[in-house]
Amino acid sequence: MSSQTIYALASAGGRAGIAVVRVSGPQASAALTALAATGGRQAVALPRKAIRAAINEPSTSERIDDGLVIWFPAPGSFTGEDVAEFHLHGGPAVISGVLEALAAMAGLRMATPGEFTRRAFENGKMDLTAAEGLADLIEAETSAQRKQALRQLEGELGRLYEDWRQRLLAALAHGEAGIDFSDEDLPAGIEVEARKDVADLERDLAGHLKDGRRGERLRGGFQIAIIGPPNAGKSSLLNQLARRDAAIVSETAGTTRDVIEVHLDLGGYPVTVADTAGLRDVGEDEKIEAEGIRRARAHAVDADLRLAVFDGQSWPEADAATMALVDASAIVVINKCDLSPLPLRPEINGQPALAISALTGDGIEALLAAVADRISGLMSASASPAPALTRTRHREALEECRAALGRFLAAGPGTGMPELAAEDLRLAARALGRITGRVDVDDVLEVIFRDFCIGK
Ligand code: GDP
Repeated sequence: MSSQTIYALASAGGRAGIAVVRVSGPQASAALTALAATGGRQAVALPRKAIRAAINEPSTSERIDDGLVIWFPAPGSFTGEDVAEFHLHGGPAVISGVLEALAAMAGLRMATPGEFTRRAFENGKMDLTAAEGLADLIEAETSAQRKQALRQLEGELGRLYEDWRQRLLAALAHGEAGIDFSDEDLPAGIEVEARKDVADLERDLAGHLKDGRRGERLRGGFQIAIIGPPNAGKSSLLNQLARRDAAIVSETAGTTRDVIEVHLDLGGYPVTVADTAGLRDVGEDEKIEAEGIRRARAHAVDADLRLAVFDGQSWPEADAATMALVDASAIVVINKCDLSPLPLRPEINGQPALAISALTGDGIEALLAAVADRISGLMSASASPAPALTRTRHREALEECRAALGRFLAAGPGTGMPELAAEDLRLAARALGRITGRVDVDDVLEVIFRDFCIGK
């Protein structure tokens, strides 16, 4: 347990009905008694019970607020340490009064970002994936993001990796028994069995990695690029989408001058729609526009989905640069349908086109439905009841694990397990352990003894 006691405002800054100040560490109890009083005496807090208390400045006894205090003795707290919570009225002077009073106490200091969660991890309250799930839950803007984050916070992903790691450690233990005790009378077929376990695990891992990046996509939001020739109505379409109040989460300007983004919540999925520079062929001297077009293309290529917008009046002699980007992962949109009638079944490059008017709003609902449909298709193509990995960090460690398992399997069966093969399994287990943050070599010994009872 840490010797330092930390404190911080746990709720958001600004004025609000209530604000929560959290204190964690050995001095938490002292902080609570110093500041909180009931009936003119020091408050006697019962574990995990909210107590109404006067909150006083300890040196002057001046009243700061009338609030609640909650006492969470270790280890039954968020951090696993002694924790005191002050539930205050959410005004700036109340909050600063309490924070200043805590700052004046010996052994207390302001927490650094994420320090409470870090202590929770260090005290074994949660693994690293759960800590990440907590961060994602706080960031979640849509219901699908919230669900994913909550599952991760509740340990689904961590349990999956820990289960895999245990399987690996068991295989390793069997193999190591073969190395260290080759003269002993070990059960037959152990190596064959270990090898089969590893092959099964490698298959599970490969399936988990081949998930169409659904977890990462959901966490970061689906990227949709609006592309098309100049004046096709791309900006007008973005404005139409931005005006759908029900769908909007927030509207922000992109980091580059030529990419404007709108954030939407489509059926629970977070979507970022970017309007890009019009695609056309430009001359040598039009450097700025050429750069805009280069970025638009790059953005379009990176996007999960492209909305290719054409002007219904100049269609089908549509711009070749845009046509080239129309494939199965694009939705073709023919705009300005208020001006000219369209053929019965319009299509470009074999992709059926949706007719809209960005001016009147005609066809926008159908377009949004088509987009939502594509997104749920992307999500369910790989849908499995298993939790999805949500970060590059997970993917990299899993790739490393898989590579090590691949090396192990490629080495082929032999008699006993050669040291190198065991090392590959060890590396694979360590890669998994890094994801959850519990790399611990002693585990291997533990499994050996549990599985084989060698000492007798
Ligand atoms: P962008 O260059 O592709 O972003 O195109 P804009 O959105 O700036 O639109 C180009 C011009 O077409 C503007 O004058 C718009 O008012 C007009 N426009 C856009 N959408 C429509 C539409 O659906 N119907 C009509 N009649 N005009 C439109």
